Amino acid sequence: LFFNIIIIIPELNKYFFKSMSLIVMKFGGTSVANIEKINNVAKIIQKEIKKNKLIVILSAMAGVTNQMQNYIEEINSKNDIENDLILTSGENVTIGILSSVLNSKKIKSIPLLGWQVPIITDNNHQKAKILNIDKDRINKFLKDYDVIVLAGFQGINLQGNITSLGRGGSDTTAVAIAAATNADRCDIYTDVDGVFTSDPSIVDKARKINKLAYEEMLEMSSTGAKVLHTRSVELAMKNNLVLQVLSSITKKPGTLILDEKNLIEKEIVSGVSYSKNETKITISGIEDKPGISAKLFGLLADGNINVDMIVQNISQDGIYANITFTVPNNEANFASEILESNSSVISFKSLKTDENVSKISVIGMGMMSQSGVAQKMFKTLADNSINILAISTSEIKISVLIEGKYTDIAVKKLHSAYNLNG
Ligand code: ADP
Ligand code: ASP
Ligand code: MG
Repeated sequence: LFFNIIIIIPELNKYFFKSMSLIVMKFGGTSVANIEKINNVAKIIQKEIKKNKLIVILSAMAGVTNQMQNYIEEINSKNDIENDLILTSGENVTIGILSSVLNSKKIKSIPLLGWQVPIITDNNHQKAKILNIDKDRINKFLKDYDVIVLAGFQGINLQGNITSLGRGGSDTTAVAIAAATNADRCDIYTDVDGVFTSDPSIVDKARKINKLAYEEMLEMSSTGAKVLHTRSVELAMKNNLVLQVLSSITKKPGTLILDEKNLIEKEIVSGVSYSKNETKITISGIEDKPGISAKLFGLLADGNINVDMIVQNISQDGIYANITFTVPNNEANFASEILESNSSVISFKSLKTDENVSKISVIGMGMMSQSGVAQKMFKTLADNSINILAISTSEIKISVLIEGKYTDIAVKKLHSAYNLNG
């Protein structure tokens, strides 16, 4: 009789089986792009809710944050507080709609904005880092509700202003919440079946990867594979939290991002990524003497600018040198301003910026113990008459800077050269 009751009245299950799991699920912009898609998300939730408590993190509807960014550019607003308020507005809409749909299905749900948790961040507007999450308050909400629907990408700083975590930052909200609540799973639902050997929207032969080490995913994200926000991978690695990236449409098993120890095979190259988000800055006629690089990159660091690749050409006369480096596109103007306005600290003859460049990277754990990987990259590019403008490497990654117009061809040729084609 006991079992009959709990089977007939599933609502009662949770009272008998106290050890429910907590699952964090994140749905990106394309998964909540309209009411039909949000209804689809509600169906996925309906399945999971039978056995679990859920925290669901949402992005804005696809395209909405871009639209907000365009408004900011149109009015040329430089005010961080206002800009972050505008940028984070899209998430407010989606959480309200989903929570309303869930409640109409008799699933007890509450929508929460970042400040209501609160998710405390630092003051770096538009690339804020999460400092603290009030997990006791989350647990209190979880006692009263079956689902928390939480706005991704946003937090609040100690001055009480809304901050945003950087484009694509909802992934980071999800991982930070999963880590803070010690969740049993963290599933990132998106518009592709998982993490692929390269961006499936430009490489039609790209294959889905079943398992990937944190380090590889970290390199892939930070070199442009936008399927996961870089900071979200860092946080998952730090907390040893297994992530699953999967599709909200096909619902096939996705890609697991986990500790390298759980990988049986270590691929020499597991993926090829690209980023068009780099601007090349070349400074010519800078004095060639000790301390110059420290001064130059010190000024940029003080401006909180992320410098990526660096090349210095030794001068022929031993007096002057040229330095080339790359920064994210949206920091290039500020970087130039800083250097031009500090001529008393550092002098040079000219500063040139070039946005028409692209960074191509090959990544793989097996690279550590294998020679010839870089050579294959350089030869493949040379065979296709693609000139290399800068190079940078890590233990498991090689990146080159090339002219932007060769991006697609370079990625496709390298994908094939490393036998990644499916
Ligand atoms: P969401 O809105 O769900 O956060 P994103 O657009 O941020 O989704 O990320 C998913 C997209 O990332 C895919 O549509 C794909 O075009 C792109 N992408 C780039 N590189 C990869 C890769 N290696 N594997 C999978 N997707 C990738
Ligand atoms: N809506 C934000 C963006 O488009 C955050 C996210 O989607 O992860 O960048
Ligand atoms: Mg994203």
